[in-house]
Amino acid sequence: MSVLHFSKTVLKSLFGKPATLMYPVQVREYSDNTRGQIHFNGDDCILCGLCQKKCPAGAIKVSRDEQKWEINRFRCIACNYCSEVCPKKCLEMVNKYVTPRIAPDSVETFTSPYVPPSKKPAAEKGKTISA
Ligand code: SF4
Ligand code: SF4
Repeated sequence: MSVLHFSKTVLKSLFGKPATLMYPVQVREYSDNTRGQIHFNGDDCILCGLCQKKCPAGAIKVSRDEQKWEINRFRCIACNYCSEVCPKKCLEMVNKYVTPRIAPDSVETFTSPYVPPSKKPAAEKGKTISA
């Protein structure tokens, strides 16, 4: 490498704009090609577990008993498969990155308002409750 080429690189680094952003303090603009991350809209979720079954990375966990939907974003490979298979269209890719975290196993947990039939009181299931 010639001295001239080296000097050009040094000068560019010294006086040029930084290649990195102070993320997340500085908001980043995303291109249309950004894969983004999975967004969960739990209002319509029926806790069927199909997203968990189909996720190739094992990033999703659905618990009907606890009415919980969880995602481990460190495992997610942003393949979008879960949103394609969801029968209620509760999942979608949004054009933003994951919030930085420190714990490598951190999991986002959402509580679904859906009450599975097995957890509904007998009266709601059409049975008579005797006094
Ligand atoms: S997000 Fe969709 S696929 Fe996943 S449990 Fe809820 S309804 Fe089923
Ligand atoms: S986008 Fe792919 S890897 Fe991520 S949770 Fe959905 S199915 Fe799993």
